[in-house]
Amino acid sequence: MSTAFYTDPACLNHATPEGHPEQVARLVSILAALEHRDFAGLDRRQAPMAEVAELLRCHPQDYIDRIRAAEPDAGNHQLDADTWMSPGSWAAALAGVGAVTAALDAVVAGEARNAFAAIRPPGHHAETATPMGFCLFGTVAIAAKRALDHHGLSRVAVLDFDVHHGNGTQDLLWDEPRALFVSSHQFPLWPGTGRAEETGPHGTILNVPLAPGTRGPDFRDAWEGQVFPRLDIFKPELILISAGFDAHIDDPLAQLALTEEDFIWITHRICDLADAHAGGRVVSALEGGYNLDALAASTAAHIRVLMERGA
Ligand SMILES: [Zn+2]
Repeated sequence: MSTAFYTDPACLNHATPEGHPEQVARLVSILAALEHRDFAGLDRRQAPMAEVAELLRCHPQDYIDRIRAAEPDAGNHQLDADTWMSPGSWAAALAGVGAVTAALDAVVAGEARNAFAAIRPPGHHAETATPMGFCLFGTVAIAAKRALDHHGLSRVAVLDFDVHHGNGTQDLLWDEPRALFVSSHQFPLWPGTGRAEETGPHGTILNVPLAPGTRGPDFRDAWEGQVFPRLDIFKPELILISAGFDAHIDDPLAQLALTEEDFIWITHRICDLADAHAGGRVVSALEGGYNLDALAASTAAHIRVLMERGA
C-alpha cells in the first residue's frame, strides 16, 4: 500500500489576471516542494480528464455548457467578482475532477491506502449552477457522489479545513443523507455562510465557525470536541478532504493562525478516524492557500503524513 499522487499539467494552464491570489505559481510551488527526496516514495500517477458525465453528478447540463462556452480564446473572462477563466480553464477543471475521481478509484480499489490530488482551480465554492470564489465545479462533492453512486459506498464524510466555508460542497450535498459534510472556517468571512445552525434537512451538515485570530489549540479543540465524535457515530466508509491551507497564519486572505504543525496534527487525526472506520481510506484534494511558501510547506507536511500513514 502507498500514497497515490495525482496532478496534471493542464492545471497549470488555468490563468488568472496579474495579482490574483489563485495563481499558477501556487501549484508550481507545491510541485517544487515535492521534488524533495522525502517524496520519492509517492506513487505518482497521471489522471485521465474527467468525462462530462462526472460533472453531471452535481451540476446540470446547461450550467456545464455555460462554463464551457465562457472559456475565452485569449485573455481572461470574468465570471464574477473573484472567478475568472482563461484559455485552458475548461481542461484544467476537467483534469482536476479527473484527478480526484481517479484518486478515489485507486483508493477504493485498494491500489493505494490514501491519495492526494494537487489541482487547480479549487472546487468547494462552486454551487449547483453558480461559479464562485475561484471555483468552477464542485470537485470533492463530485467525488463523494461517485463514491456513493458508482462505487456503492453507504456513507462518505467530506472534511473541509479550508479557512473559507465550503458553501459549494454544502449546496451540492445538502440533500444527500449518505454524505456527512464538515467545514471549519473563519466566521465572519467571505462567503458569509457556514453558521452552526446550517445543518441540512438530514442533519448531515456540520459547520464549525471559528473566530478571527483562532490559533492551533482552539482549532484542535473544536475538531476534537465537535467533529471527531460525530465521525465516530457516522462511521464513514471513506473520508474525502477539502484540503485548503489558507487558515495558515501567513495567509493573506484570512485571519486564522494555524501552522504546519496544526495541519500535521489534523491529517494524523483524520487518518486515525479513517483507520477506525474506513480501512484507512482517505482521498484529499487541494483547495485554497495563498501564501506560496506557507502553501508549499503545509501541503508537503500534509502529504508527508499521508505517506507515513499509508505505508
Ligand atoms: Zn479558502
